[in-house]
Amino acid sequence: MLISEDLTCQELVELATEYLEGTLSPQDRDRLEQHVILCDGCAYHLDQMRTTIALTGSLTEEAITPEAQERLLHVFQEWKGA
Ligand SMILES: [Zn+2]
Repeated sequence: MLISEDLTCQELVELATEYLEGTLSPQDRDRLEQHVILCDGCAYHLDQMRTTIALTGSLTEEAITPEAQERLLHVFQEWKGA
């Protein structure tokens, strides 16, 4: 039996594109959705990405730069009081 592990914020950011494109496996999608319920930061991140898709019609490489990901992860860490 596979026990589904909690997703980390970093994993979520990495999986978010696939999630929004609908290419994520059902298993990972479940884990991601569970995380978003509990994590305001990632809910916000997904919201931003959805807005980007709505505006541009697709997720481009420029939409989520490594710098943007890093900035987000930094914000997450502060929220978690690390
Ligand atoms: Zn998170």
